[in-house]
Amino acid sequence: MTSALKSDELESFRQTLHTLRARLRGDLDQMTDEALRRDQPQSSGNLSNVPLHMADVGTENYDQEFTLSLIENESLTLEEIQEALNRIDSGRFGRCEECDAAIPKPRLQALPYTRHCIQCARALESQ
Ligand SMILES: [Zn+2]
Repeated sequence: MTSALKSDELESFRQTLHTLRARLRGDLDQMTDEALRRDQPQSSGNLSNVPLHMADVGTENYDQEFTLSLIENESLTLEEIQEALNRIDSGRFGRCEECDAAIPKPRLQALPYTRHCIQCARALESQ
């Protein structure tokens, strides 16, 4: 399986993904600290210690809930970025996981960790 992209293009996507990953990790550390500091002073830093029962948290914890959902989204994005880096190494980067078509470069530039072409992404979203 040959990649749809030239090696110098792959390298530039690898750089972009590394930068994104570093930035997300920085954000995550900061947000996790802030979210946990609010009412988990003895937290070990383990996210599973955070209370998730909505009945137990008042409206003053809305910000914390919001931050936690952001953290969850960013964690998923980090996983996607890691997967994309793995795909660069295995030569699968830039190909749709559903239909195996080459993902158009503008889409990769906008969303370098995407696994799907636009058509398949739309089809999957509407399921
Ligand atoms: Zn596709």
